[in-house]
Amino acid sequence: MCAEPLEEEGYGYEGTDDTADYFTSNHQLTDVDRARLNSCLDQMREVLAESVPEQKMVQAVLDSKFDVQKALDLVLSQGSKQNVKTKNEDTVTVGKTTKGKARDSQSARMESEIVPKITKMTVSGKKQSMGFEVPCNSHILCMCACSIGEKKISKTKQNMNPCLNSMSITVEFFLLQLSSGLTVVIAEENGHANTPQKGLLTEDASVASGVLQAVSKSALLPQVAQVSEEQNMVPTPVKKSSKTKLQIDVKAELEKRQGGKQLLNLVVIGHVDAGKSTLMGHLLYLLGNVNKRTMHKYEQESKKAGKASFAYAWVLDETGEERERGVTMDVGMTKFETKTKVITLMDAPGHKDFIPNMITGAAQADVAILVVDASRGEFEAGFETGGQTREHGLLVRSLGVTQLAVAVNKMDQVNWQQERFQEITSKLGQFLKQAGFKESDVAYIPTSGLGGENLVTRGQSSDLTQWYKGKCLLEQIDSFKPPQRSVDKPFRLCVADVFKDQGSGFCVTGKIEAGYIQVGERLLAMPPNETCTAKGITLHDEPVDWAAAGDHVSLTLTGMDIIKINVGCVFCDPKEPIKVCTRFRARVLIFNIEVPITKGFPVLLHYQTISEPATIRKLLSVLHKSTGEVTKKKPKFLSKGQNALIELQTQRPVALELYKDFKELGRFMLRYSGSTVAAGVVTEIRE
Ligand code: GDP
Repeated sequence: MCAEPLEEEGYGYEGTDDTADYFTSNHQLTDVDRARLNSCLDQMREVLAESVPEQKMVQAVLDSKFDVQKALDLVLSQGSKQNVKTKNEDTVTVGKTTKGKARDSQSARMESEIVPKITKMTVSGKKQSMGFEVPCNSHILCMCACSIGEKKISKTKQNMNPCLNSMSITVEFFLLQLSSGLTVVIAEENGHANTPQKGLLTEDASVASGVLQAVSKSALLPQVAQVSEEQNMVPTPVKKSSKTKLQIDVKAELEKRQGGKQLLNLVVIGHVDAGKSTLMGHLLYLLGNVNKRTMHKYEQESKKAGKASFAYAWVLDETGEERERGVTMDVGMTKFETKTKVITLMDAPGHKDFIPNMITGAAQADVAILVVDASRGEFEAGFETGGQTREHGLLVRSLGVTQLAVAVNKMDQVNWQQERFQEITSKLGQFLKQAGFKESDVAYIPTSGLGGENLVTRGQSSDLTQWYKGKCLLEQIDSFKPPQRSVDKPFRLCVADVFKDQGSGFCVTGKIEAGYIQVGERLLAMPPNETCTAKGITLHDEPVDWAAAGDHVSLTLTGMDIIKINVGCVFCDPKEPIKVCTRFRARVLIFNIEVPITKGFPVLLHYQTISEPATIRKLLSVLHKSTGEVTKKKPKFLSKGQNALIELQTQRPVALELYKDFKELGRFMLRYSGSTVAAGVVTEIRE
């Protein structure tokens, strides 16, 4: 199942004698044992720092059969501390200079040869204070406050590859404290996810189910009809506005593209330290997307940095700071393939400080992997109040993700016990059902990200096989249903990143939410309501002639000043532009909030790639939880679990769509003081 041990293969890696010895002695170990060894070494270094030669520590770990305490006792009883060698110190110094810091051109060159290529998604933040004024077009937006999102222009790229651009991100340091037992979620457009589970639900849950019913009855069902009507329409690949462009049958082309494989956007979510980066890094390695030399390099570097057990996580955690802190901050994006799909993988940060980044990642995902730590106490910590397991689950569901694979990870820590697996899946199952996931759309897979077990092939360990006969993680990813792509609708792309290219124009990246685009096409950016030409399109680092809804692309644009484009701008079809407004009405579901929401309540509107300050301008009505009828007009306040119609006012104009027209562009979240207070859908655009 696992790839061979990572060996030096004469690739010119300058290892020290110590590292050579380390690998010699390590040679006979299985991947799982080597991972356990690294984990033990990390823990020992915390106690011993670099005072004991590595070989001694390795030997002690092996002698004590991976029992850290015994190994420590062994080492200390041998009195090895006198062996602090200068050679060893040298090794440490080398490690320090290499870990995620400035690299020389040689290593930069080597990086560029590394597969997979990781793209960092820029996340908008701190826009309140760092707004960026754009000259306005008088008849559209007289206030001129056209910027959505902080300007994100990266340096000219060193490697000339737009998708490799690693952006510095601005992060909102929210203190997220979501109350436990949140059970509300927005009803889903496919109309099947919201059946209330009477009898099974807690009090909170029944509130949620009521809300769900209310939403679906009051507004969603007619839209469902509308959506399916659209989907049933004979494909009309050529838009009204495309008289001048070559006619292509997008749907037919999409089927042929990528060797007939469907594209799927996958986000990995879960509490910090659940093992997300390690799991996905190891999966990429086992799939052959990371070559042995690179993995060896990561292993060496992480070992020298005193974080050997993070080697696989380094495949996805690119920045020096991420590596030093050992947490994912940015959304790392990369690509891999399964039998029937091409997956764009987004590794979202689990730390509560980076929830806004996670929202941006999740807003662009079709499906999600929720990683939970099976270790005793750890699953509980992530699942209880303050943990990100619930928060992430709710957020992705509210952002439109309906299919979920739950990786019950670190099963090696609990000896692959079936009881522990069942305990976790039953707790999570109940919660996920309340959050609006259909039972049949959630799959649970026991994994060990560190050992690589049950990732790309079914687990071999008898401890697992005696009770688990299900799919491995890769098989589960492969069996996700591909989502509907709105290729028949007018073109829409919400900007996730802006940067200067080597050439004359500039580049934007983002996911095409609707329609399709061809090279040479004119596009309108909203705001600032200006047009430009798409000179080039890049999909997964390859130049392409066209791209369609669901694709994460990089567009090279000409005929417009980069200064006018911000993260959050929407590029659209000039004939059928997206609406821009500062005032809109929405149907919202209030989460478990402590303070009731009143008129004038300040919030942060999280929408696609932006987060924009806004206020709740009016409380229009409270809707009945199950019938959707207005139960109260002009309420004085809204409290937890309520379903209501409100009017929102944003500080600066935002490009929005009605949920009934473009479900992807009509959904948003409201946050206040670091907590998610509501999820909503746009029902009316005012001005
Ligand atoms: P993330 O914050 O969710 O991305 O977590 P990381 O991938 O950075 O992993 C956090 C820590 O858990 C690291 O020390 C990993 O080596 C360790 N870890 C990850 N997966 C496993 C696993 O399956 N088994 C064990 N024993 N440790 C793991």
